[in-house]
Amino acid sequence: MKHITRAKAGWLAMVFAAVFMCGGCDTSKLVSTQQEVEVGQQAAQKVESENRVLTGTSDARRVEEAARRVIPQADRKDVTYTVKLLDKNEVNAVALPGGYMYIYSGLLPFLEQNKGVLSSSNYDGAKVDTNDVLACVIAHEAAHVSARHHAKTMGRSAVYGAAISALNKGNVQQWAAVFANIDMLRYSRSEEYEADRLGAVFARRASYSPWGMVAFLEMLANNSSSRRSDLENILSTHPATVDRIKRARELAKELTK
Ligand SMILES: [Zn+2]
Repeated sequence: MKHITRAKAGWLAMVFAAVFMCGGCDTSKLVSTQQEVEVGQQAAQKVESENRVLTGTSDARRVEEAARRVIPQADRKDVTYTVKLLDKNEVNAVALPGGYMYIYSGLLPFLEQNKGVLSSSNYDGAKVDTNDVLACVIAHEAAHVSARHHAKTMGRSAVYGAAISALNKGNVQQWAAVFANIDMLRYSRSEEYEADRLGAVFARRASYSPWGMVAFLEMLANNSSSRRSDLENILSTHPATVDRIKRARELAKELTK
């Protein structure tokens, strides 16, 4: 039998205590806002050193305008949200810890190409345009930040493996490297549902149509079988399932009653 040293036993006890204490609890509490912002800041620097940020184009202005209206409607107020347009010809949008968000430049032409689905008969008579859809995508990402999904991810790993103590310097860098890998960002299914729900609420508060969320999922669903490489990442993180569309429809109906 392997010999467990005293120090190791103490560490194991700490891990088990944390797992026990945190069984079903909110793991985001293990990570402070300041730690989240530090990780996000480093990750954002890396992302922006590897990708061009587009400014001054009409697409960049559309993103800025939607963000300007949506961001103040997010529930969480202790972080600064920024939304930038990245020169990446894919259909995607991502959020880093601490409020750094990016729209991929391929998203805007995708919305224009798919605006055929935006007939009011599809949406309970509501008028929906591509700006509503863009606002809902931004609101969905803001909701991941607002609900502290990144802190939950970091906290979960703190409970189940790494260190229980706060993130030290080395950990901040490691996490920044994890999140800077933006094409690989993943959330749990329940976090995705939560981001759809909160995002529709934030968009509605900003006077955008929450049907934009439904429309976006339908655009993804319509294109999901065509093996488009520019959709690969978003479909792996955001599968436009029948259930997801149904939930978004019910909520949009509720919010526009
Ligand atoms: Zn998401």
